[in-house]
Amino acid sequence: MRGEGQWLVCFDTDRIKQYLLATNRLEEIRGGSALIADLDKKRKCGLESRYGQQRVVYSAGGGAAVLVPTEQEARSLIAEIEREFRAATVTASITGACVWTDTSPGRFGAEMSRAGRELRRAKAAKAELASVPIEPYMRLCSSCGQHPAAHQAQDGSGDWLCQACQKKRELGRRERKGFFYEFIEWAAEPTVWEEEELPKDLDAIGSVSSPPGYVGFIALDGNQIGDLLSKPATVEAYRAFSEGLWGLTKEQTFAALKKYGLPRNGIAPFEIILIGGDDVLLITAADMAVEVALAIAEGFEAQSSRQVLSPAGLSDERKKLTMAGGVVLAHADFPIPAMYALAEALQKSAKRLCAEQGYETGAIDFQVVSGSDTDLDMLRAAIPHHRPYPLAELRKLLYYIRQFKAAGFPTSQLQAMYQALFEGEVNAQLASIATLGYLGRSADKTRYNRLKAFFKDFGVQFEGQLPPWDANKRSALADLVELYPFISAKGEAE
Ligand SMILES: [Zn+2]
Repeated sequence: MRGEGQWLVCFDTDRIKQYLLATNRLEEIRGGSALIADLDKKRKCGLESRYGQQRVVYSAGGGAAVLVPTEQEARSLIAEIEREFRAATVTASITGACVWTDTSPGRFGAEMSRAGRELRRAKAAKAELASVPIEPYMRLCSSCGQHPAAHQAQDGSGDWLCQACQKKRELGRRERKGFFYEFIEWAAEPTVWEEEELPKDLDAIGSVSSPPGYVGFIALDGNQIGDLLSKPATVEAYRAFSEGLWGLTKEQTFAALKKYGLPRNGIAPFEIILIGGDDVLLITAADMAVEVALAIAEGFEAQSSRQVLSPAGLSDERKKLTMAGGVVLAHADFPIPAMYALAEALQKSAKRLCAEQGYETGAIDFQVVSGSDTDLDMLRAAIPHHRPYPLAELRKLLYYIRQFKAAGFPTSQLQAMYQALFEGEVNAQLASIATLGYLGRSADKTRYNRLKAFFKDFGVQFEGQLPPWDANKRSALADLVELYPFISAKGEAE
């Protein structure tokens, strides 16, 4: 006979971002997102009413954990949730796993991480079986291109869609659910954002953006959260951790959108694709993207101790939590799945910087895409840049962009210095010195002083070392010039 304990059942949605972003159509992304959020909500209600709130460890962001009395109950719950999820989404799946758990106090975190390992094993086993054979005579879905088409869309597009995409598109058109409605509720200003203002497609967001036609794709993710999952001592502490984390992520995202995302010409200039746990995916007008990403990451970091670590009894483990993010600035006709892939690559690059700095700070990397190139290394090969940026450094870069704009800095001078970066170390120096000399001859020294302060603040020592280069032959100049058109002149910098 075993001692005190129960069966711990854990669930996690498989490849949720791939499911959401398999398409280039905003209404399908919105429909998929609403469907996942709705399934989340129903699962939480179902588990709580069946087993009682005390036994639901957490249920949010595509995952859940619940304590049940018997193995048979655990197995049939897993089968039921997996089956219902598949029926609702058609192509997406959720995976469950269960372990016998010692529920005596102090051990719970370790038991959760054991269940987590079991869950990852089950997910890996399932992934190997995932691909559906496509017969050569089958017509492929014109949206995702991955599954056989089953219906012709009834929206005049003439598209042949698979069942999953059909469902997403229908929901995206009709459903009044999902993150946008939660945001309106949270903002408590229903007269400012109304549902008619949801953008129809990326072109609609681009049409109210500056520069016109451009959008931003934002991916943010908490650093080193997985390592903390084994730490909470009790079920209650684990629940406090999970709810605190999700609440904080959601609150910071909503706060940033409320501040920067006021409707423009009757259109909300953003789309919330996903907020789950410590994960955020957004599409916004290009001119608010960097500011929104930065505000979320800063707020998350600043509030993490009070809202997550301390309620979960983890203040001894970490002083704070940090986030890494990627921001892509691209034309609205750039394919969404490619934007997502690039944003993920940028987020990884930011994560590497966070690791180098011992997770003392969050970081953000960004990339402006002007052609059709989608490989990050290719996009950057030719240019000496300073990215990714720790949050405080990015804040500083935005400050200088606004300082330059406020002083009416000649863009021709910025372009001349920028072009010279591609012409070797010496030419880049000549161009920067020439610009400083030109601005220095003017009676008003504001522009000269601001450019010099910018170089100094980003590591140029001037004593025997000439701008634009810092001691490591890197320069923030390229970053400043590339980001320049995407930062609005007004802001907190003045
Ligand atoms: Zn499809």
